[in-house]
Amino acid sequence: MIATGKALIIDRLLSKASEGRRLSVDEALQLAAESSLADLGLAADARRNQLHPDRRVSYIVERNVNYTNVCNVYCRFCAFYRAPGRPGGYTLSKEELAVKIDETVAAGGIQILLQGGLNPECDIEYYEDLFRWLKQQYPTVNLHALSADEVLHVCNVSKLTIEETLARMIAAGMGSLPGAGAELLVDRVRKRIARLKSGADKWLAVHRAAHRLGIPSTCTMMFGVQETWHDRILHLEMLRQLQDETGGFTAFITWPYQQGDLKLARGNTSAAEYLRVQALARLFLDNIPHLQSSWVTQGPSIGQVALNFGADDFGAVMFEENVVSAAGTTFRMNSDFIETQIRRAGYSPWRRNVRYQAVG
Ligand code: SF4
Repeated sequence: MIATGKALIIDRLLSKASEGRRLSVDEALQLAAESSLADLGLAADARRNQLHPDRRVSYIVERNVNYTNVCNVYCRFCAFYRAPGRPGGYTLSKEELAVKIDETVAAGGIQILLQGGLNPECDIEYYEDLFRWLKQQYPTVNLHALSADEVLHVCNVSKLTIEETLARMIAAGMGSLPGAGAELLVDRVRKRIARLKSGADKWLAVHRAAHRLGIPSTCTMMFGVQETWHDRILHLEMLRQLQDETGGFTAFITWPYQQGDLKLARGNTSAAEYLRVQALARLFLDNIPHLQSSWVTQGPSIGQVALNFGADDFGAVMFEENVVSAAGTTFRMNSDFIETQIRRAGYSPWRRNVRYQAVG
């Protein structure tokens, strides 16, 4: 059957994007509204194969360490934090951290994803001391450390600029910056779900400064919090613009808001919507090399399907995770299981570091 009218326009847009030619915001919106999930997936898969033609899927062995859950930001979607001074708050000691990192290294881990709440007790000296100690004890372990808001929090507490804060953290041992806390980089949505969190411009400013200071970062998008498709595409456009400027993002990952027993989400957070968002992101983010499938929120099976919807990375072996699991999601995998999932999806697994270089 010969495509006509709107169908022809959609076919042309899908071909254009699958060849790596840039989509405008309006074109992406048109695809979001009018393309079928199957067609989006095929185009995203073609683009993924163009970028990574060897049918290989990477993963990393790291541990997510949530060093403190004390936080004074009170995001509506977060079931992890405890307000300062309230029961249940913790900050891990060096001894407690050492137990976790020893286990990680023994299992072949090469990276610690260090994230926590915005704890008023943690200033620049706290992080400098912690990072120096970690690098002294574990010189080969990369510190993939702190969300943009944690960095901004230290700027406030210690009266430093973003550049000064990051430069001191990098000198102490920070190796890369995770993309956490982006949520939706549209302030109207952001204000509603995380009233006290920084604005989108600040999140971008932290990542811009990190890239300029020579460390890579990842970027993320959490959807399903009553945002529109226009909001989602604007979010992706901000990431794409910053990547044009700095080239410092190694990977993008998206996931739907995890409802748990919270009442914030009334959007579509189904697996089909997740695959649709990821496929469109693969087509729109023409300058970000890697996409991670979000098996932690979606489970291993959807994680495998996501490899046919634009993802070329299976994320990390999960020793523990406290933020997503606080909202009720509890998927776990070791490296053998991850490699089995990748092989069963028709790809060859390979282990990487934060810069997507092969290790082990
Ligand atoms: S998401 Fe982060 S900043 Fe927001 S309340 Fe939870 S720990 Fe604090």
